[in-house]
Amino acid sequence: MIYVPKCDTCGELTHVLVDGYTIRDRVFEGVWFMVYFGNGKATHVTPLTKEDAEYLDDFNTKKIYKEVMEFANNSDILICPTCREDIDGPIIGTATIVKLAPATDITAMIQKGIDNSRSFHDHIKKMKDK
Ligand SMILES: [Zn+2]
Repeated sequence: MIYVPKCDTCGELTHVLVDGYTIRDRVFEGVWFMVYFGNGKATHVTPLTKEDAEYLDDFNTKKIYKEVMEFANNSDILICPTCREDIDGPIIGTATIVKLAPATDITAMIQKGIDNSRSFHDHIKKMKDK
């Protein structure tokens, strides 16, 4: 299984947004990064707008983009570029969990709890829909 960003409203996504604030707090407040996903992980990063790009010119962008990719690959919540709603990041998606499970059993246990509560939730929802 590989991680594919998916928005409840917009469906599967090829790219997601990362809020600059999560990378460098106030320094990048209001700056947005577009992160592209391929083969289950973040492949590259671009500033969202021309203004963001100009602002980032004053920084070591290579290092920052690397940080943004690492964040996107290890996040439980990312943002849909279309509707700006929160979407499940790789930590909740199955790909990274499969990779993390042997090293950190606690992560697998937490994920199992999430999966169980989700399937229960889905089950209830299906019953209601009928
Ligand atoms: Zn969306």
